[in-house]
Amino acid sequence: MKTNFTLIATAAAGLEAVVGRELRDLGYDCQVENGRVRFEGDLTAIIDSNLWLRSADRIKIIVGQFPASTFEELFQGVYGLDWENYLPLGCKFPISKAKCVKSKLHNEPSVQAISKKAVVKKLQKHFHRPEGVPLQELGAEFRIEVSILKDQATVMIDTTGSSLFKRGYRVEKGGAPIKENMAAAILLLSNWYPDKPLIDPTCGSGTFCIEAAMMARKIAPGLKRQFAFEEWNWVDKELVAAARHRAKEKIDWDLKLDISGSDIDARLVDIAKKNAQAAGVAADIQFKQMRLQDLKTDKTNGVIISNPPYGERLLDDEAIASLYRDMGQTFAPLETWSKFILTSDEQFEVRYGQQADKKRKLYNGTLKVDLYQFFGKRVKRSNPIQGG
Ligand code: SAH
Repeated sequence: MKTNFTLIATAAAGLEAVVGRELRDLGYDCQVENGRVRFEGDLTAIIDSNLWLRSADRIKIIVGQFPASTFEELFQGVYGLDWENYLPLGCKFPISKAKCVKSKLHNEPSVQAISKKAVVKKLQKHFHRPEGVPLQELGAEFRIEVSILKDQATVMIDTTGSSLFKRGYRVEKGGAPIKENMAAAILLLSNWYPDKPLIDPTCGSGTFCIEAAMMARKIAPGLKRQFAFEEWNWVDKELVAAARHRAKEKIDWDLKLDISGSDIDARLVDIAKKNAQAAGVAADIQFKQMRLQDLKTDKTNGVIISNPPYGERLLDDEAIASLYRDMGQTFAPLETWSKFILTSDEQFEVRYGQQADKKRKLYNGTLKVDLYQFFGKRVKRSNPIQGG
């Protein structure tokens, strides 16, 4: 079986660089591409990237890349890959996804069918099985994906299983939750550090607060879930157990955090509390029912992160306009606080009453959104010795 892999971490458009930064922090050199980040590594890289990346969607192994402008080229290309080094006899190996973009081959179901035939033929040959007798597929699953971009095929195996945004702590969703990996990415893009107060005044199911607490405590986001690769026979279970053990040892339980979340809807506040409980960070976050219009604080240098309702999703335009105006007025006195607000409303700044210092285009699912960033004013501390 294989010991070294070319891997990609997939990411939502706009978040590739954040995933790249996370990978480098884990110690991997990487190249940031469109929608994905490429890196090399061994089995430990597969385990650690799944366990630790907060902003990525999935980790996939690149089995091979080759030109494919005809079905014959596709068949030969897929057949030519070293499937025997990945797929044990008896495993399930669906071609779970085929995607063709700007390519001569564009019939995705046919790409799936041809690719499947090619893998089957290769395994029949390798394991000396008669052609014509289907291979039994009962064991662990290896989901294969074929993507053809400008007549270049990339063939991958997904190592993750259900997407990495599913951390396993969400008890109930409620309303319109932001994906966990998107919330984590926004926190990583913000200027929040664990020593600053953090407030999410439209916390819904609590995602930003929970992700922040997990990040601060260095709780691996994947600690509470399983991954597809854990079923594979060539993955050393002890290596996985050791990685989980190391992750548990890394958790910093001593840190003092100041994180709070509030929402107008008491039902959601209950859900947020349950989610925080399940994530193991309930003691780190103060959740309460409150209108954002009632937000007041004497603290300084904090960070507000909010993803308020957008027109497309939850409220009518009139209500949105007045909510954003209230936000602007409520946050204005908090001069030393930075604010990061995610919305799809292109009129946000006008309604809020202030132009953002910086804007960043992101996608919340398929919806184009902007992260409006307002940086807090630094407070000058007077120096008691110089009397300043
Ligand atoms: N990020 C959240 C989802 C936020 S959706 C999550 O991950 O679940 C927007 C939230 O704003 C909703 O939960 C809604 O109840 C809340 N909301 C709407 N108007 C509000 C107001 N005036 N004050 C506080 N919260 C409000």
